[in-house]
Amino acid sequence: MSVEQRITELREQLRHYSDCYYNEDSPVVDDFTYDRLLRELEELETEHPQLRTEDSPTVKVGGKASEVFSPVTHRVPLQSLEDAFSYEELTDFDKRVQNALGTDYEYVVELKIDGLSVSLEYENGVFVRGATRGDGTVGEDVTANLMEMKEIPKVLPENIPYLCVRGEVYMKKAVFEELNAMQEILEKKPFANPRNAAAVSLRQKDPKVTAERKLSLFVFNLQLCEGKSFSTHQESLSFLKELGFPVSPYFNRFSNMKDAFSEITRLGEMREELPFDIDGAVVKVNNFSSRVLLGETSKFPKWAIAYKYPAEIKETRLTNIFIQVGRTGVLTPNAELESVRLAGTTVRKATLHNYDNIKEKDIRIGDMVRVRKAGDIIPEVLESVPEQRNGTETEFVMPAECPVCNAPIVRVEGEAAHRCSNVECPAQILRNIVHFASKDAMDIEGLGPQIVSLLLDHGLIQKVSDIYTLTAENIASLERMGKKSAENLLSAIEASKSRELDRLIYALGIRQIGKKAGKILAKNFKTMTAVMDAAVEEFTSIFEIGEISGKSVVDFFSLESNRQLIEELANHGVNMEYTDTGVSEIFLNKTFVLTGTLPTMSRSEASKLIEDNGGKVSSSVSKKTDYVLAGEEAGSKLKKAQDLGITILSEEEFLGMLP
Ligand code: NAD
Repeated sequence: MSVEQRITELREQLRHYSDCYYNEDSPVVDDFTYDRLLRELEELETEHPQLRTEDSPTVKVGGKASEVFSPVTHRVPLQSLEDAFSYEELTDFDKRVQNALGTDYEYVVELKIDGLSVSLEYENGVFVRGATRGDGTVGEDVTANLMEMKEIPKVLPENIPYLCVRGEVYMKKAVFEELNAMQEILEKKPFANPRNAAAVSLRQKDPKVTAERKLSLFVFNLQLCEGKSFSTHQESLSFLKELGFPVSPYFNRFSNMKDAFSEITRLGEMREELPFDIDGAVVKVNNFSSRVLLGETSKFPKWAIAYKYPAEIKETRLTNIFIQVGRTGVLTPNAELESVRLAGTTVRKATLHNYDNIKEKDIRIGDMVRVRKAGDIIPEVLESVPEQRNGTETEFVMPAECPVCNAPIVRVEGEAAHRCSNVECPAQILRNIVHFASKDAMDIEGLGPQIVSLLLDHGLIQKVSDIYTLTAENIASLERMGKKSAENLLSAIEASKSRELDRLIYALGIRQIGKKAGKILAKNFKTMTAVMDAAVEEFTSIFEIGEISGKSVVDFFSLESNRQLIEELANHGVNMEYTDTGVSEIFLNKTFVLTGTLPTMSRSEASKLIEDNGGKVSSSVSKKTDYVLAGEEAGSKLKKAQDLGITILSEEEFLGMLP
């Protein structure tokens, strides 16, 4: 590959990663990988200056402002920072500073908070506007969302005509862990790291969501302050602190880079204990007039540099592999390790993600392995070191039974995860009850994750069916639960007993059986007993129920505890039978394809009629198609249907079939 091709490839890759990271808030590679590729591109562009372009990721800042928010043009651009990955790179920076300033300068070292940059503007002491960085020049107006953050002062104690500060919105580690635990319970995609969670939470259309996410802020720069002047950065930060801004906690002064680096090392060692994530430390020239002399590039100031702490990778021995059962029943293999110091903590266990990962990387019990902290929080096993094997290592075998409840482990085709098949497995009970009570399932209003956790913690429930044994007294005994809310919850529980059968089937949380499959099963089998006792073939003979789903139901009910659950629910009076709602089923199990323009109906009207009568609409004609509803200028689909001998209907014929 030529240099030119490699440069093009790197730019495309980096643009894609940046787009996912900044604009989609969904990073696809870790920062380490991104930084390495950016570095490679920078080096190639330095060696081949003729190949530089103005729109290269080495020149441009951040993402682009989303159209969901109004644009805000920053009065002072929100620039990025130059990176340093070693002491040598810091001393190179120091030399450049010395060349411009001589020996008369000092540095301030600060934490580099891992969140997202915002500007906050105040007019006459009142908070008027807040924006994200965007591309550095134009950001997104997120004022309404920032208004929800308690840490942002809305009115300043001093009536300054105009003030603009820059800070970092971040999420504390504890808040992040709580949020991801909830995502897991609700089976939503977890956030990659606190930075990602903060970015998603701030860039919400609904400020109420931002408010719930408990975001925090550190202010680290004074951008503009009309009517006041400061000679140093440190002075300006102290002033912002007096105004009531949460200023970044450390900003000490140093007279040379050697001492600044000792501070960077000290801060790095504190990293684990800090309640929030940092991804480095920032060294800034303290004096404002010196900053002017140093100037800036289009991307970053020449008076500051960010030192990124290296991702530590260590070797240690993997002594055992044990299984942890998560709240959704997913079994995660974990490595037990000979203890090793990693990024400030002693690590004795690390995740191996899933069984396939162990097999693909050929990681064996007894192996020497390389371990690192992914996203600097969770240690993970990166790879094994096969050269160090002595022949005593053993391969890991996935257990057949859940280590918590001994129920069989299942693996759904196409999924990487192994799961415990028991709804009542103590490890996953919280999630199962929340799912059971959720809106599309038994619709028990008020029985959300917080209440279910409290009920479990107080031993008031241990399994799904126990919710039907709750009384107003024991609900009212919970914290934050008044008599009225206890009564409301109780009547919601009572009302759920008469929910339709399809909701109950869905509420059981059987893998592969969603809302729609619940409906199909209820309609076809009519009673819960019939669903429980059906064989795989009976399921697969039903239109739209495949073998994987059928097998999943059979596996589910092959477990005694799951059958017992149904019995208990029935004893509590929960409805177990299908009630005919009178909806027509004339197209049940029939697939339609629409083509051409119909004389009186739009395609969506026709599709609705088909679906309301139990049928299904597909986009392409195949042997499985039952009818093609054809209008004017029907094209290749009509031809194919004719070739396959499929019944072709006109709109009139179709309408004639309806009840
Ligand atoms: P940066 O994050 O490296 O540095 C600039 C940012 O640091 C500023 O925007 C500011 O908000 C923040 N900051 C925090 N504390 C600060 C302090 N005390 N003083 C000054 N600034 C402070 O630069 P960037 O251009 O925002 O982004 C590049 C980073 O984003 C890289 O680390 C890269 O790894 C990551 N990134 C990752 C991906 C990915 O796919 N993983 C993609 C794009 C970018």
